[in-house]
Amino acid sequence: MFHAIQQTTPIQHITCLNGVSIDIKRIDLVHPYISGNKFYKLKYNFEEAIQLGYTSVLTFGGAYSNHILATAYAAQHYGLNSIGIIRGDELKNKPYNQTLTRSAEYGMQLEFISRSDYQQKDQVHYLNTLQKTYPQAYIIPEGGTNLLAIQGCKEILSDADFKHYDVICVAVGTGGTITGLIEASSEPQHILGFSALHGDFLTKDVQALTSKRHWSITDAYCFGGYAKKPPLLMNFINEFEKNYQIPLEPIYTGKMMYGVFDLIYHQQFTPKTKILVIHTGGLQGK
Ligand SMILES: *Cc1c(COP(=O)(O)O)cnc(C)c1O
Repeated sequence: MFHAIQQTTPIQHITCLNGVSIDIKRIDLVHPYISGNKFYKLKYNFEEAIQLGYTSVLTFGGAYSNHILATAYAAQHYGLNSIGIIRGDELKNKPYNQTLTRSAEYGMQLEFISRSDYQQKDQVHYLNTLQKTYPQAYIIPEGGTNLLAIQGCKEILSDADFKHYDVICVAVGTGGTITGLIEASSEPQHILGFSALHGDFLTKDVQALTSKRHWSITDAYCFGGYAKKPPLLMNFINEFEKNYQIPLEPIYTGKMMYGVFDLIYHQQFTPKTKILVIHTGGLQGK
């Protein structure tokens, strides 16, 4: 599945603005409601799980997580069981939203835990206890970001793709996808990340994952944080879809694209710059 997917995601030209050209890599077209980048992040993790003889995968996420849904789908595809540890035990007895409904349909066992327990999800002690409860489960961190995920994200673009562009733009949540792009590219190219969240912790997280320097992450277009839907952003997304027939969503790709247009509008790129934006997906069928 993962190999075939990589051959079918086209690069399309969007427009030229102030002498700057924007193309888009449509990894969102991998699946109607599973984020394209999540496939790349999961690919080598699933291969590892199978090779090590695990019969299930376990991971973490919020009730709307693209990563949870992608893991559920991939597990079914590979014939593994899946367990999703979901943030918020108050959701246990409520009707499932679309993400959780679809994840359960793909066979994922959903376990709801309190927000305070969820905060321990990266701690060794908590993970050891969890591994004892689910001895057959290969554990993938929240958002799927680990070294194998980065290895997979190095394959989002071919060497030829990289050579053609001066700047590559991508939305950033936990930093795995951008790290793969950074590792697979080199100067004078610049990899520019648009954070979905407020703060500079992602720059530090990515610094810990790569020694390369030809990249930066801005939170200037996070629109106040993760799940905000301000009218300015929503209008931009509607307008963009009308003009270019490409759907975006407000958490990741909408913010990134707004940022790209805004930077070009304010002449932050020299004329003739060739930009490639990565459409990471995330639409979940909406
Ligand atoms: C998960 C996700 C991202 C963020 O990827 P990271 O590797 O966590 O930085 C970006 N865009 C979409 C649509 C996503 O679902």
